[in-house]
Amino acid sequence: MEEFKRIVIVAYRLPFTIRHRNGKMTAQQNSGGLVSAVLSLTERMKNSNSGTDSAKTVWVGKGEHDAEQMNSLREVKETFELVPVRIPDHVNEKFYGGFCNDLIWPLFHYFPSMTVFGQGYYESYRKANQLFYRELKKIIRPGDFIWIHDYQLFLLPGMVRSDFPDASVSFFLHIPFPSYEVFRIMPDGYQAAILKGMLGADLIGFHTHDYAQHFLKSVRRALGYDISLNTVMAEDTYSRADAFPISIDYKKFHDTVFLPETEKYMQKIHKQKRDRMLIFSVDRLDYTKGFLNRLAAFELFLERYKSMRGRVVFNMVIVPSRDTIARYQEMKKEIEATVGRINGKYGTLDWNPIAYQYKSLKFNEMIALYTLSDVGLLTPLRDGMNLVAKEYVAAQHQKHGMLILSEMAGAAAEMSESVLVNPTDISQMADAIYNALMMPAEERKSRIEAMKKRLRDYDVFSWADDILRSVVRVKTDRKSFRVRLINRDIEERIIDAFCNSARPVLFLDYDGTLVPIRELPEMATPEDVIISLTGRLAAKSNVVIISGRNRDFLDEWFSDQNLTLVAEHGAFIRYPGGKWESSLDQDDKWKERFKPLLNRFTNRCKGSFVEEKRASLSWHYRNADEDLSALRAIELKNELEESIINMPLQVIDGHKVVEVKMSGYNKGSAAKKLLAMEENDFIMAIGDDKTDEELFGALPENAISLKVGKGPTRARYSFLRQSDVVAFLTRMAEAMEQISKS
Ligand code: UDP
Repeated sequence: MEEFKRIVIVAYRLPFTIRHRNGKMTAQQNSGGLVSAVLSLTERMKNSNSGTDSAKTVWVGKGEHDAEQMNSLREVKETFELVPVRIPDHVNEKFYGGFCNDLIWPLFHYFPSMTVFGQGYYESYRKANQLFYRELKKIIRPGDFIWIHDYQLFLLPGMVRSDFPDASVSFFLHIPFPSYEVFRIMPDGYQAAILKGMLGADLIGFHTHDYAQHFLKSVRRALGYDISLNTVMAEDTYSRADAFPISIDYKKFHDTVFLPETEKYMQKIHKQKRDRMLIFSVDRLDYTKGFLNRLAAFELFLERYKSMRGRVVFNMVIVPSRDTIARYQEMKKEIEATVGRINGKYGTLDWNPIAYQYKSLKFNEMIALYTLSDVGLLTPLRDGMNLVAKEYVAAQHQKHGMLILSEMAGAAAEMSESVLVNPTDISQMADAIYNALMMPAEERKSRIEAMKKRLRDYDVFSWADDILRSVVRVKTDRKSFRVRLINRDIEERIIDAFCNSARPVLFLDYDGTLVPIRELPEMATPEDVIISLTGRLAAKSNVVIISGRNRDFLDEWFSDQNLTLVAEHGAFIRYPGGKWESSLDQDDKWKERFKPLLNRFTNRCKGSFVEEKRASLSWHYRNADEDLSALRAIELKNELEESIINMPLQVIDGHKVVEVKMSGYNKGSAAKKLLAMEENDFIMAIGDDKTDEELFGALPENAISLKVGKGPTRARYSFLRQSDVVAFLTRMAEAMEQISKS
């Protein structure tokens, strides 16, 4: 943790509720897990920095109060330094009420029909993010770890990155990230702004692996950026997306059960429930929580399992939220009418099946309810995580209750020992209620204890710790990536060495190196400037065009020049002014056998095609659907590898191409052959593909190898773009001509 000197949290809400009472300001700390996690991180950071910098954690959030006055309050002073961001009401209405809650919230929870694309929403959203940034910018200093939270602040990481390229920034999304098909419902401009904003962070955290994958796919589809594993690399971007499921303060939820205050509530509940079994749920009022489905399932349970009538009470607590909005008011009315109907239908003089409460619970009361209920029934239609599920499990003791959890909640990914249900399957849920109530005590215990152990091992402190450590890792990786990236200084040194050499050789790959990758190979013809460039360089050096292209193609474009040409990845070599020589000693009948297989894959993957060369067959998939073709490529590679056993063939997995070719030669062996023929005092190779890695690997220690594009390589340095290669070679030719003139 020594890497960071201070934590700066940015979230829509401040960690305190500030009130004015009788002219006096008071502050009450909000109880969320994030607040305690951050406080514990601050504590540990102070210890590990051995007091050298005991800076307080800063928390930037929306607030109207005077900063100085707030920060002088005792509760605040002991914990955080607050930075209030003032957002005028008219902006907040369209920012928070509009873009956040009418657009992002429903869309990201898979309710596209409820999504409102209101006038001026986005502008207010951007404005509000700018207002946050204006305050944040004033306080950023070296050594800060800036941790930005949630969907209200998607644009903020990008704003920080553009002014502070070296800042350590993490973004965490507390709601789901939807699949690309749902994300793309938004106007393109919003998509790009949100994704680019998020990519300003070094590390982007999600609750589940699925959400992280949805995000990465959206980045690939909407922005076209390269992704290697879970790292996004583009010109000014190097960020990683990963799953960090938020957890709870396990000890707090576990231990509160034993407090006298909780005991008081427990006695009260005991009296009320008598010997009846208790089902419990608590959620905020929201359409994502699936109240009506839950009630329907409970009704069906009463209908189906008649013996349970009079023996079970469902205590459904709904915490008030956003209920000034008409949609929420209507939903509340509908829930209450349904509760009334079910109670009217099944209730008796001394038993009401549903005990409904619309209120906030005191912490100890909630824990008492968790502990005493036989079933926790949490069935949201969609939920980023659902912390209540974790809290419920942590609060189970001797008499273990059972958790019924929606598989649409992020928590389901980690709580497979609960009874998982589909919240739209009413019949399945009704049976699940019965089965959970009837589950043998031993089974309940073993399932709950397994989940408790996981929560104990990965609590909210480990979660925050994990994120911090991962940011450090991303920063280190980003640095080493940058180090490999070629810069002007290195380019100058290479050009100098080239100009001072007597017998230089330049190995230049063709596709992706001298010309950009195009949709069809026949479209990628060299422009005049490239042809003249290779010609100019050949005046001083042996220029070798080393390509996967066939002989005819290379002849057509380069035969007029004084170049060495290597075709089909080394199968054929043609020395300047000479004839093509073959490294092959086999016939090519084998190709007939493999053509049907490759054609079958072309039929199964729209946009892919087969290319035939003298010594190889290639299946290209750069124009096909990204995911499907990646899968097909693996299948094809496996099938080919199985069928070439004992044949003098080899399968190559190139850049968006799977190739089967005769073995015994490759770009590396071709380069070695050429290098053996002459003593070169300057050796340089540039390529972009996996086949070029064989070339890089075959070169002697002192050679200069350069890769085009990102990703792992054996090359010494990398160019970001193909156009950078052309610019570099042009400077090389100019420098060389300058010297020969003088
Ligand atoms: N909670 C609360 N007051 C209450 C009832 C619940 O503060 O009266 C807390 C509960 O302990 C949990 C949080 O509210 O930590 C709800 O989080 P969850 O992830 O389940 O749902 P969200 O409200 O974030 O959609």
